[in-house]
Amino acid sequence: MIFIGGIGPRRKKLEGQPRICSNCGLSQAYLVRTDDYLSLFFIPIFRIRKGQSFVECERCGHIADETGKVYAAGTDLQAIRCHRCGETLEKGFNYCPHCGAER
Ligand SMILES: [Zn+2]
Ligand SMILES: [Zn+2]
Repeated sequence: MIFIGGIGPRRKKLEGQPRICSNCGLSQAYLVRTDDYLSLFFIPIFRIRKGQSFVECERCGHIADETGKVYAAGTDLQAIRCHRCGETLEKGFNYCPHCGAER
């Protein structure tokens, strides 16, 4: 039998009700969290690590934290890159919103 498994990030929607996006003004922003899951045969089995929750707009991709504080990409000169996925990581996040890696 061949064992196909691994650890990967999974985006989870924490709220069904959308919030108003502070960038585009449409109510298409959702509270989400990126967790690390152990998966077997591409099916997530259980959560390995809990990420940080944040608000992401499905329309424009704008990201803010739960309190509505804005982490606009490109405006923060101290923004760093994620060591795992290479996406820009705004300061204030303890976890990468893209892949869930700890910074
Ligand atoms: Zn938006
Ligand atoms: Zn990342």
